[in-house]
Amino acid sequence: MQVTKTVEETRKQIKQWKKEGKTIGLVPTMGFLHEGHASLIRKCREQNDIVVVSDFVNPTQFGPNEDLEAYPRDFERDSKLCESLGADLIFAPSPEDMYHDPHAFVSIDTLSETLCGKTRPIHFKGVCTVVTKLFHIVAPDRAYFGEKDAQQLAIIRKMVKDLNFDIEIVGCPIVREEDGLAKSSRNTYLNDKERQAALCLSRAVKTGKEVIYIGADAKEVLNPMKAIIEAEPLARIDYVMMVDALTMQPIEKADRDVLVAMAVYIGKTRLIDNFSYGV
Ligand code: AMP
Repeated sequence: MQVTKTVEETRKQIKQWKKEGKTIGLVPTMGFLHEGHASLIRKCREQNDIVVVSDFVNPTQFGPNEDLEAYPRDFERDSKLCESLGADLIFAPSPEDMYHDPHAFVSIDTLSETLCGKTRPIHFKGVCTVVTKLFHIVAPDRAYFGEKDAQQLAIIRKMVKDLNFDIEIVGCPIVREEDGLAKSSRNTYLNDKERQAALCLSRAVKTGKEVIYIGADAKEVLNPMKAIIEAEPLARIDYVMMVDALTMQPIEKADRDVLVAMAVYIGKTRLIDNFSYGV
């Protein structure tokens, strides 16, 4: 497995693989890899000749008061895991190699203003920008994203369609801990009590899945979910919403493909979870 640290050396290797007619899959990550990331890498391994994993804590997707500095990092562990999963290359650039001032941005505004975009107004602009850059650098045939970040996945799909990227976007199911908590690099922020309290998210998802039916009112689904979270003293709801799966706009009834998504603070840590429901 190769490790590249610059755009230039990555491009050189990619050109070589393209010349050899190889198909390329890309798994964009911010590192501190866990079983959720591993599931994307495995899927990528199955479907492509070459597997590229990017490992980059992207500064432009963090707001001024967010956890950019504190975000967990362990490149040694990441690279061992990638190697064991059969990745061919990890691209781990420095922020200086990726960005200069002033820098152009890519933004898919309509889908970015609801859900996480309300609390994190610049987040998806940063995500779209870094993903565009990675798409241009790696030129993959396929790219892999987790359904855990369902709004991000919807935005990337829209970006690829609207801006004519010739890349297949592959969504991968949420990987959970045995007790239900969705795997996340941010779970390391939780102390023991918070880790226990964080189970209210997956319990709310489970309840939402049980109560939803075609044509259900949003309140019928969301109220019991909110009640579970509100009963947890360490939890504070950012949002629990039902939205149209394509537009991310709030809807009153589950009468089409919907996303039921939430963001909840457990102490200072903001966690997300969701489920999709189709007609
Ligand atoms: P991150 O490193 O958090 O930016 O995540 C990189 C990719 O892994 C994104 O496409 C995430 O949606 C995906 N991912 C993170 N956690 C999970 C999980 N628990 N299950 C499935 N995919 C995940």
